[in-house]
Amino acid sequence: MGFLDIKQATKSYGSLQVLHETDISVEEGEFLVLVGPSGCGKSTLLNMIAGLEDITSGEIAIRGKSMNGVKPADRNIAMVFQSYALYPNMTVRGNISFGMEMHGIQKPEREKRIDQVSDLLQISHLLDRKPGQLSGGQRQRVAMGRALVREPDVFLFDEPLSNLDAKLRVDMRTEIKKLHQKLGTTIVYVTHDQIEALTLSTRIAVMFGGYVQQLGTPKEIYDNPANMFVAGFMGSPS
Ligand code: ADP
Ligand code: MG
Repeated sequence: MGFLDIKQATKSYGSLQVLHETDISVEEGEFLVLVGPSGCGKSTLLNMIAGLEDITSGEIAIRGKSMNGVKPADRNIAMVFQSYALYPNMTVRGNISFGMEMHGIQKPEREKRIDQVSDLLQISHLLDRKPGQLSGGQRQRVAMGRALVREPDVFLFDEPLSNLDAKLRVDMRTEIKKLHQKLGTTIVYVTHDQIEALTLSTRIAVMFGGYVQQLGTPKEIYDNPANMFVAGFMGSPS
């Protein structure tokens, strides 16, 4: 048993099966990257972990407890999307605080977490601004802050950097890696970017056509691709 267990998980929309029997066991503190081309089922699997999509068959469990049928809000999971919808009329502080308020966390504790997280993400000087007054990178940091203050068991990212320009993408990649090293949070991170996968992850699941083609460390995947698809997609030397 791992920390997050995906067991024989499948997803179908009507007669269309988009995720075939998938088994992945994620250890606590791991940084798992799901990588693959557009349409291969990455977001579907991530959304099933978050509870935003039902599981068609199989099971997803956290700390041994089945999440099947458990509402997203009751999963202790936080998610950062590509389009990080911040509330435009709320300050940064309000945006970060809101989810905690919804979960009944009292003000002193909220303030403490906001302080810690904004320190960590270097957004302390932005707390009184509105999202419209922030750069793309700053907004991304706020979105991460909003997820982090929830102190989730599992942190999910769906292509969080794909809207950023190349330079910022590299900077944020470094930040996310540092954050993981500092906090030891369990992360499942979706991207179609091979370099992101190879540099960020402790393990990679390479997906294609609704199947996990290979699961392994970056080195294993790169040095010993399981098939032609993985070799081609990951750019392994031939
Ligand atoms: P990825 O995130 O890897 O780009 P997705 O998980 O979004 O891929 O999609 C996987 C497949 O499932 C795609 O073929 C997509 O068209 C299909 N799909 C996703 N959502 C739905 C839906 N609500 N109804 C029907 N098909 C869907
Ligand atoms: Mg996707």
